[in-house]
Order: sequence, then C-alpha cells, then structure tokens
Amino acid sequence: MNPWFAKAIILLASIVMVVIRAPHGQRSRGIPVARSQKGPLEIALLTVAWAAFFLTLFWIATPVFDFADYPLHPLPLLTGTPGLVLGLWLFYRSHADLGTNWSITLEVREKHQLVTHGVYRWVRHPMYLALLIYAAGQALVVPNWLVGPSYGVAMLLLVALRLPAEERMMLEAFPKDYEAYRATTKRLVPGVW
Ligand code: SAH
Repeated sequence: MNPWFAKAIILLASIVMVVIRAPHGQRSRGIPVARSQKGPLEIALLTVAWAAFFLTLFWIATPVFDFADYPLHPLPLLTGTPGLVLGLWLFYRSHADLGTNWSITLEVREKHQLVTHGVYRWVRHPMYLALLIYAAGQALVVPNWLVGPSYGVAMLLLVALRLPAEERMMLEAFPKDYEAYRATTKRLVPGVW
C-alpha cells in the first residue's frame, strides 16, 4: 500500500490531538499554580515526549527517516487506526473530566479539585492510558522501524517514571480522598492494575 495512507492518518490524528489539548492548555494557564514538582526528570520526560511527537511529523514531511521504512500492509493499518481513534476519544474525555485541574507537568493548582468522576471512575490515569493506546495505534499504523514505536517508548518512559511521583503529589495534596480513591480505582487497567 502507498505509505501516504499512513502519513495522512497519523497527520490527522496529530492535529486532532493538538486541537483537543490546546483550549485546556490556555484555560489552565490562567489558574495560579499552588505547588510545582517540575524537576530535571520532568523536563527530560517532557522533552522526550515532544521529540517523539515531532519525529513523527518529520517522517511525514521529510525523507530523513525513509531509510527505516518498510512496506505498509492493510492489516496493521486497519487494526492501528481504531487504536488511534480510541486513544483520541479517551484523551478528549479525560481532558473534559479533568477540566482546569489539568497540567502538562506535575502541578497542583489553586483550588485544585480531586476528580474521580467520568473516565476517572474507571482508572486513576485515563489520560496516560489514552496516550499508551494512541502510541500502540501509531506503532501499527506507521510503517517505519524507528518512528512507529518512538511515541510508545516516550509514553512508556513518561508513565513509568512520572506516575509514582504524581501519586505521591496527589496523596500530599488530598491525603484522605486520594487514599480512598486508590483503594477503589486501579491505576491504568480497569479492575486489574
Ligand atoms: N495522570 C492523570 C492526569 C494527567 S495530567 C491521567 O493520566 O489522567 C497531570 C496533572 O493532573 C497532575 O499534575 C495533577 O495535578 C493532575 N491530576 C492527576 N490526577 C488527578 C485527579 N484524579 N484529579 C485532579 N487532578 C489530577
């Protein structure tokens, strides 16, 4: 198959992702931060995540990564695309439920509220789950050994290294309520883990 099918799908998905996030970024920026834990690790993780995002756009727009291309087959394209759609839907829902409590990094805002409704009833980290599902979709859709799995690697690093610090921060901010939330709601896989 022509690789431009994959390029068009992933470009559209990247645009949708930016469109979902942009208004939330703008809204939350207006609310003062009460406590920030943006250390060197956070900066490194965010840099890797952005690099992986732009790597994909580079693959679409330039021939730089063509050396790692392989032929595109219909099956991975047809299984990966629903993954992208599901990931984007969950990404949208978790932003909607988190509202102005969202931050790109580890921050607690003034008048921060603990969200446990909507998709936060299923798992404690639906946005990270959304990003992991999206990344799995990308790995299937993008016929390139380097670019395909790159977003997945970045997201796995982000989730593995950020999650414990984020949970500690939420426990300090909401000692009783977050403890109760942890007791009833799993991290990333509903009912399992
Ligand atoms: N880990 C969550 C949120 C990612 S955004 C998810 O995957 O859905 C990161 C910010 O969200 C953190 O800085 C923290 O301030 C905030 N946050 C995380 N869980 C939250 C919750 N249940 N309620 C309110 N804010 C939360």
